[in-house]
Amino acid sequence: MYYGPPIEYDPPVFRPPSEGLSLLIQVTIGCSNNKCTYCDMYRSKTYRVRPQLDINKDLEACFKSGMKPDKIFLCDGDALGAPQEVLINTLDKINQLWPDTRRVGIYATAENILEKTETELKLLASKKLNIAYLGLESGDDKVLHMIVKGNTASEMKEASLKIKSCGFKLSTIAMLGVGGKKYSRQHVENTAKMLSATAPEFFSFLTTFSVPGTPYHKMVERGNIEPLTSKELLIEMHDILELASFDLNPIIFRANHVSNMHPLGGNLPRDKDVILKTLKDWISKTPEGVYPEAPPQM
Ligand code: SF4
Repeated sequence: MYYGPPIEYDPPVFRPPSEGLSLLIQVTIGCSNNKCTYCDMYRSKTYRVRPQLDINKDLEACFKSGMKPDKIFLCDGDALGAPQEVLINTLDKINQLWPDTRRVGIYATAENILEKTETELKLLASKKLNIAYLGLESGDDKVLHMIVKGNTASEMKEASLKIKSCGFKLSTIAMLGVGGKKYSRQHVENTAKMLSATAPEFFSFLTTFSVPGTPYHKMVERGNIEPLTSKELLIEMHDILELASFDLNPIIFRANHVSNMHPLGGNLPRDKDVILKTLKDWISKTPEGVYPEAPPQM
């Protein structure tokens, strides 16, 4: 029995863990970048912007079914890259149907943010689109280049500061182990620097897994990337959080994604000492040479 929204989604559909209770509306299909070497989320899809009529039809069907969403999340992979007109029309429709909806969220790339003007971003934020999830993955240029992320560290920083200044809350995601053993130290140092400089309101870690069928997997198979052990992944998390400063604003930190070995979270800088102590404890109890098992969903 299907109890979800009365919408025929174009699968697969992804959303951040914190949007688990949000109504998901597909504004775009797939990802306009679709090149990141480790990512297989949208490889089955050809990127396109959905016709406004279809988006509106989904919203009206949900409205007629009696749904009163507190939060809405606009899919797919980088829906902020949709034309401004589509985003505005979608938000106007949402605000017309559900004036009490609290907020609308979206995945964004640095490219999407830099392509929009400040005026455009501010207008979107004024219409309740006010949290963006940015896959930073790493603050290190070499790693970003290796994974074909499509943006440099300085573009990531500029985009992060820009979207915050335009009234969005920023939720930044970094990937543990993404640079493999070779780039682990510079990944740690530069990701910590990026976190200190951009101070997103929310920050989370995912763990990198080599997913069959991806270029990343081929690089691992050929020995070009050496994955981190469970212990090394925990050390990366510990060291990034230890090196980062949290002076600009408090950060809600979560490492509760299904890819992570242990769920962890707290408010930074308030809980920094407790989080670092917990990580040190886990590191000391994790044997050498053991690799994490990929979760079944990946
Ligand atoms: S931008 Fe995000 S969704 Fe698109 S390919 Fe990269 S990781 Fe995947």
